[in-house]
Amino acid sequence: MAFPPICIGCSAATTLHGGLCPACWPLLAFIDKPYCFILGTPMEFDFGEGQVSAAALADPPPFDMARSAVVHHGLGLKLASRLKYGDRADLARPMAQWMVRAGADLLPFCDLVVPVPLHRLRLLKRRFNQASELAAQVSALSGMPLRQDALVRRKATRSQVGLGRAERAANVAGAFAVPRRKRAVLKGRAVLLVDDVYTTGATVGAATRALKAAGASHVFVLTFSRVAAGAAPPHMWQDFSERPRTDGAGYGLYAAALRFLHKRKGAAG
Ligand SMILES: [Zn+2]
Repeated sequence: MAFPPICIGCSAATTLHGGLCPACWPLLAFIDKPYCFILGTPMEFDFGEGQVSAAALADPPPFDMARSAVVHHGLGLKLASRLKYGDRADLARPMAQWMVRAGADLLPFCDLVVPVPLHRLRLLKRRFNQASELAAQVSALSGMPLRQDALVRRKATRSQVGLGRAERAANVAGAFAVPRRKRAVLKGRAVLLVDDVYTTGATVGAATRALKAAGASHVFVLTFSRVAAGAAPPHMWQDFSERPRTDGAGYGLYAAALRFLHKRKGAAG
């Protein structure tokens, strides 16, 4: 590249393209363990690998598991907004790098990457679907096949901004569908569903229902940021360089959690 590298957070001169300067690192709240094994939500105490939050037990999500890279707050919120509204497609690569790290325990079990789609009229207006950009980069970084058009948005839903939990769910209910000719692609496959922000899970939940109705065996959700209830506890504010590497351990727990989840969902009808 001909231009000298600048920080993607504050545009200060830095050493690497697509990186953050030392001043911006602490402003990005990476979501680290301990978190809920199912929802990926930060938890206050560490009870060991595979712990499940009360929220996941009380109201099991339609998707199998979810992970997010950062808290949707401060610099995390700023980066998500810039990618969405700011004509900054260059942010998708570094954001996807953090997502791939956050989803390291899910990726080995996924067959294809599918973005949460925009309605075609909104896409015409905006010309840019941030979820598609992130999904393309996650696919490129992980080597997992990308299926941009496996899912379509058939309802031009109103913006979720300002809506409560129940309103959000109602707003997106039935909004997604899998085109008939795409069903074969999904049948029996585990999908990595990619979106930019996880708020209440209503959007990815509705998208999951459409994917599973079309025959997907599992749906794992990976987003850049997540709206966290309350302020981020200090343990989530860690320097990226200190993050422990995920070594792929815990598959047995993963399988047990999935069986548990499916049994619960089966019992719930
Ligand atoms: Zn900076």
